[in-house]
Amino acid sequence: MLSCYSSSIPSFFSKTLIKLNPHTPLLCTMSLRFHAFAGNPIRSRTPRPSEPVSPQSALQTLRTLLLSKPHEPSSPNFKVLLFRKGRPLAGSETDGHRWHLGWLSLGECRAFLENSEVGLSEDSLAYLGCTYEDDAVYWAMDVSEASVLVNELGARHFCFVELRTLMVATDWADSKAMGELAIAGHARALLEWHNTARYCGYCGGKTVPMEAGRRKQCSNELCKKRIYPRVDPVVIMLVIDKENDRALLSRQSRFVPRMWSCLAGFIEPGESLEEAVRRETWEETGIEVGEVVYHSSQPWPVGPSSMPCQLMVGFFAYAKSLEINVDKEELEDAKWHSREEVKKALTFAEYEKAQKTAAAKVEQMCKGVEKGQNLSSDFNVESGELAPMFVPGPFAIAHHLISSWANQVVLNGVQTQKQAAGSLSSL
Ligand SMILES: [Zn+2]
Repeated sequence: MLSCYSSSIPSFFSKTLIKLNPHTPLLCTMSLRFHAFAGNPIRSRTPRPSEPVSPQSALQTLRTLLLSKPHEPSSPNFKVLLFRKGRPLAGSETDGHRWHLGWLSLGECRAFLENSEVGLSEDSLAYLGCTYEDDAVYWAMDVSEASVLVNELGARHFCFVELRTLMVATDWADSKAMGELAIAGHARALLEWHNTARYCGYCGGKTVPMEAGRRKQCSNELCKKRIYPRVDPVVIMLVIDKENDRALLSRQSRFVPRMWSCLAGFIEPGESLEEAVRRETWEETGIEVGEVVYHSSQPWPVGPSSMPCQLMVGFFAYAKSLEINVDKEELEDAKWHSREEVKKALTFAEYEKAQKTAAAKVEQMCKGVEKGQNLSSDFNVESGELAPMFVPGPFAIAHHLISSWANQVVLNGVQTQKQAAGSLSSL
């Protein structure tokens, strides 16, 4: 059903890397086109209001369809993605190694909801995007209150699956699957924001969806405050010791055993990204950072539900001082690691095995065999028997910051590294 948009995904990542440095492996082994949750194929651009697939036109068509109780097919072709408690509806391909989103037509959606507590209305649907090739418009809808749906959809081998589980189950070399993950991430962020932005922060009045659910507005006639979806920017940085060719990795107490990662922290009001990198590094480790070089960014819609979507902004941060003084309230530990140690951590980690295990689990859930949603134990698969430490999987920007640095063959020392970071910033 979704092959129509898989071909429209440009391969910026791979092109950039080939142009960047054909002699070094860098990220080429990953075949990654975008970070997970980026590269959404149905919202590469917003259609003009006059186009039938635009949010404005689609909303008008939706109103007509909802009033007339239509028979399918409609034009544009409406597809709805249901969510339950933050989990998108998913199914599994017959080969069992790939999941897909459980898109329903508007008619199917209406039929499923007919006997449930949840009504289908224009305010319950949020516009996600469109594809021109098949004249389709995509919507998201929260059906958390409709408990009866779980069994009915289960009969069609559909299941509401945690987004984090789908994230781990996604084959990062599969552009179609990565596209589906990006759509699900955007939809979840939008619906979570709708759930948390029910009231106006200025006057306390109720908010109502506007522009096909792409923003909200206070219903108080004296206020009418416009409210837009929330994004929380976070800096994430690999701190590098140029002279000794080491990188700083840290552990938080919530991490699974032996996992180490980059430092990260929220940006404060009135602060630049570079200032946030320096402040957070100093606060958490006592290390002073000089030069800060942008790498790439990643939407992160799988954080706490109070933050519908974080934007992870990744940097290389070059240390001016090397002594570590860990803030034990923020971190469990932080240490300098040699390039060889980091490479080993990447080599021994069994990311592919973890992905296949997760994909098999999604298949079982969709077949109704497996009820469990928690895959935290499976993350341990990544660590492998031989690895004394490992870093987050390829679905996280931390992985790419770390592997970008570790896999750079030092051709011309520091200069090569800086060029790499600069070129990646074109993502
Ligand atoms: Zn208000």
